[in-house]
Amino acid sequence: MPLSPTLVAELQSIVGKPYVLYRPEDLIVFEFDGSIDKGVPSAVVLPDSTEQVAGVMRACRAAGVSIAPRGAGTGLSGGAIPLGGSVTIALTRMNRILEIDVENRMAVVQPGVINLHISQAVDHLGLFYAPDPSSQKACSIGGNVAENSGGPHCLFYGATTNHILATEVVLADGTVTWLGDRTGHAPGYDLRGVFIGSEGTLGIATTIVVRLLPKPETVRTMLAVYDTVDDASGTVSDIIGGGVLPAAMEMLDALGMKAVNAALNTGYPGDAGAVLLIEVEGLLETVVAEAEWVMAACRGRNAREVRLAETQAERDRLWAGRKGALGAMGQLAPNYYTLDGVVPRTKLPEVLRRIAEVSARSGILIPNIFHAGDGNLHPCIVFDEREPGIEARVLKVGEEVMRICVDAGGALSGEHGIGIEKQDFMDWIFNAQDLAAMAKLRPAFGSDDLLNPGKIFPGARLACGESGHGRANVKKVMAAGGYL
Ligand SMILES: Cc1cc2nc3c(=O)[nH]c(=O)nc-3n(C[C@H](O)[C@H](O)[C@H](O)COP(=O)(O)OP(=O)(O)OC[C@H]3O[C@@H](n4cnc5c(N)ncnc54)[C@H](O)[C@@H]3O)c2cc1C
Repeated sequence: MPLSPTLVAELQSIVGKPYVLYRPEDLIVFEFDGSIDKGVPSAVVLPDSTEQVAGVMRACRAAGVSIAPRGAGTGLSGGAIPLGGSVTIALTRMNRILEIDVENRMAVVQPGVINLHISQAVDHLGLFYAPDPSSQKACSIGGNVAENSGGPHCLFYGATTNHILATEVVLADGTVTWLGDRTGHAPGYDLRGVFIGSEGTLGIATTIVVRLLPKPETVRTMLAVYDTVDDASGTVSDIIGGGVLPAAMEMLDALGMKAVNAALNTGYPGDAGAVLLIEVEGLLETVVAEAEWVMAACRGRNAREVRLAETQAERDRLWAGRKGALGAMGQLAPNYYTLDGVVPRTKLPEVLRRIAEVSARSGILIPNIFHAGDGNLHPCIVFDEREPGIEARVLKVGEEVMRICVDAGGALSGEHGIGIEKQDFMDWIFNAQDLAAMAKLRPAFGSDDLLNPGKIFPGARLACGESGHGRANVKKVMAAGGYL
């Protein structure tokens, strides 16, 4: 439903006329994130300050209109997709680094700051911000907080939650509060920890205090080349079980490398079954010894070649291949759907074999590019949405793959969140009591179905009165709202 002219005027008075978009041609730009679901907002509001976010929240609530927070829209589980005629609050204009505190190794940033820009801003000080999603050139720190994002180097450094000291949050009723503090030791309940990963359902992060770390003295980057996925994935457990925790340990299979080689000149082998991109970092003496040990472990599992990057340029090239891999999927097919399951590392060979069987049986290609050290799989289903009936087949294959991960003792998400995508699967892992306990958090934060409705929980009620399950919800809402 279009917004009432009264609410449009009120929102314009809060953020300024140019920053309220409500014409259909402006809105369709905001119907996507990086997942395969879509939903058009009833309006998009682009605030520039905490006060403006609070004002927008209050105005929408008073009008009974739901809102969906949005960062850069790179999310892979549909979290930023507006459902039930929600107004999108896009945080992209709040993109300032407000303070860099070298002595206390922290920075205070607005939520729309791009992840990589933090490390770039403190590089000359010998510092960096550790969590490095492969989307780090594009994704916002607010989105990272909402998803508790990971990244290749989170194997060693831990995910976003370990690097956020505090966040200012606007709650559903417009109240502004701080969760956590600059010491990282705020007394009482760890509401900061609860908020991180809450996918925009408990409030909007408007200022974020991030931890900065000193850059490591030395880094060694290696590419181990294998004939088989089994040997590559077996090496992962050998290395970690052997007592070395690399900073990063990423895997690409043959299909993943085919896409990367077609799109980017990064020197990945064209005829291998799989590669592991492994990085160790720290003090020079330790790193040199660890790199030797890691290379020996790779050879011990039949790596046919182990390359050590000799220069920063070589290192950058190897990482460009890994971090550009998802974008490179366009070389295989026009559309992709990236899954996000976690399995115990020791189960990687078996689970990857079973995923290959699903691919062969369904006739749908599933390249694998993922955070192997964490057991965090990203089977990437590639397809052409113009093929009749393909979306239903892709969703079925996605469900089968997630089932394999859960049956192997894994989890539904390592870092991309549940969003719209996986809410139907929540009851594979949680029973009704578990889900009911989690749902109690929302009212405790003063939140309800007016704040990012239809996300995370199966059967979420939507502001337009519709209810149902997961993707079925989306379809119903579109039918009810007539917005597609
Ligand atoms: C090529 C590619 C590679 C990727 N690689 C990784 C990876 O390695 N690791 C990883 O973890 N993810 C990865 N992702 C997923 C995605 O980049 C992350 O989930 C990222 O954190 C999303 O940030 P965003 O700013 O784009 O958020 P959006 O997609 O805009 O929003 C994501 C969620 O955050 C909420 N949100 C956004 N801003 C706020 C805020 N200020 N306050 C409250 N809620 C908010 C939204 O409502 C939504 O639920 C990748 C995505 C792509 C496209």
